Amino acid sequence: MAERSFDVVVIGAGPAGEVAAGRLGEAGIEVALVEQHLIGGECSYYACMPSKALLRPAELLAETRRVPGLRVDGLDAAAVLARRDEVIHDLDDSSQLPWLEQRGVTVVRGNGRLEGERRVRVGDDVLVAGQAVVVATGSGPAMPPIPGLAAARPWGNREATTAKKPPESLVILGGGVVGVELAQAWSSLGTRVVLLEGAPRVIVREEPFASAEVTAALVGAGVEVRTESRAVGVLREGDEVVVQLEDGPSARGAELLVAVGRRVNTDGLGLETVGLEPGKPVEVGSNLRSPRHEWLYAIGDANGRALLTHMGKYQGRLAADAILGKDISLRSDGALSPRVIFTDPQVAAVGHTLGSAEAAGMVVRAVDVATSGTAGASFVGRNTPGTSRLVLDDVRGVIVGATFVGFEVAEMLHAATVAVVGEVPLERLAHAVPTFPTRSELWLQLLEAAGL
Ligand SMILES: Cc1cc2nc3c(=O)[nH]c(=O)nc-3n(C[C@H](O)[C@H](O)[C@H](O)COP(=O)(O)OP(=O)(O)OC[C@H]3O[C@@H](n4cnc5c(N)ncnc54)[C@H](O)[C@@H]3O)c2cc1C
Repeated sequence: MAERSFDVVVIGAGPAGEVAAGRLGEAGIEVALVEQHLIGGECSYYACMPSKALLRPAELLAETRRVPGLRVDGLDAAAVLARRDEVIHDLDDSSQLPWLEQRGVTVVRGNGRLEGERRVRVGDDVLVAGQAVVVATGSGPAMPPIPGLAAARPWGNREATTAKKPPESLVILGGGVVGVELAQAWSSLGTRVVLLEGAPRVIVREEPFASAEVTAALVGAGVEVRTESRAVGVLREGDEVVVQLEDGPSARGAELLVAVGRRVNTDGLGLETVGLEPGKPVEVGSNLRSPRHEWLYAIGDANGRALLTHMGKYQGRLAADAILGKDISLRSDGALSPRVIFTDPQVAAVGHTLGSAEAAGMVVRAVDVATSGTAGASFVGRNTPGTSRLVLDDVRGVIVGATFVGFEVAEMLHAATVAVVGEVPLERLAHAVPTFPTRSELWLQLLEAAGL
């Protein structure tokens, strides 16, 4: 056994861990970054990147069909999957290493496990952290305790984003972000998809109109969307997986994808050796530090606060700053974080929905307009469905939430994020003039609808 000393040990090289390690390394701190699988984490290989690679061709195809004068003859599934493989670097992480090396970060391959205060065991070595240990171990798919589910060998996000060919048919358990994105992606490549959701609507945390508009698109693409469908049993019958439901006929498919939420990767991390509970998110305050240990930080999915790559990276930057001695506090967090669902239509939202603002006791009102009702939309996303909404707090004169549903609205979200997080006064926003003819004139319409 060898003991090696560092200032900081980061466990997990997903987006959150990489960003924290890189920022600390840049500041001259000696950092060890421990990774048991691929540098880049779930996001780069099995989550964000492959899912977007699978979704983009069909989105583009639909748009080209709306633009007169173009001749396009459909999707080539094999080529789409080859491009997906290119995006995930064929599961090879060597291209991620130079960025870390340039910052002086020491990459340690293997499983990291806490072994008491500031000590992390990796194989035969113990890495001793003089200053801090940062847990950035991410998450995997949650497997609900449904009889027969595990024995049916269901897909999680890894299998569903890296499959070598489209399955003939696919049952998806869970109509959250992962469920709706992968339903649309595989359906566009020829798979017959049944999407099962226990709640009365898919993407239940977003505005009801977003659920309705995404559902309409999925149904239009041939996906069978079954809401209020709770699975009570799963079995494999020959080549098929059968999902038995509380009510109604069973759903059958060649594969079953479980997308009912995430489980943090904190089992086997040795949390019990420092008095914390394994298998749960590592609790941290808005300073990203454990209230129990001033040397322990948790960032990204591992702390359970906001399971999104950009939020994990944001937390990585702030945790690094805290370790470097700055006074930090999260200003963007949890369910109010900016978020995008990359279906076609996309759903891009930040801050509150009308429902969540009211539930929080705020006095708010909503203004809605059609997303494609601008001159700019004559050229981009012509005649596409979708609603956009601002949630306004008239007492404070600010926007507390925004949701855009429509073709390629993801890139329009950041202006809303600036307005919501920056609490920009509404009367000042009225002077932020969107250019003509762009789809940003949507802002003008929303502000006019708000009475400005
Ligand atoms: C299908 C899908 C699509 C998604 N799309 C998006 C999207 O478009 N945009 C978005 O913002 N978010 C998206 N997400 C969420 C996003 O993937 C996660 O929020 C993000 O990956 C979290 O980053 P992380 O660094 O916290 O953890 P991860 O990316 O999970 O990385 C954690 C790393 O830690 C390693 N590790 C774990 N335990 C140990 C250990 N004990 N020792 C050593 N290493 C360890 C793992 O091997 C892994 O590499 C998606 C998720 C899914 C499932």
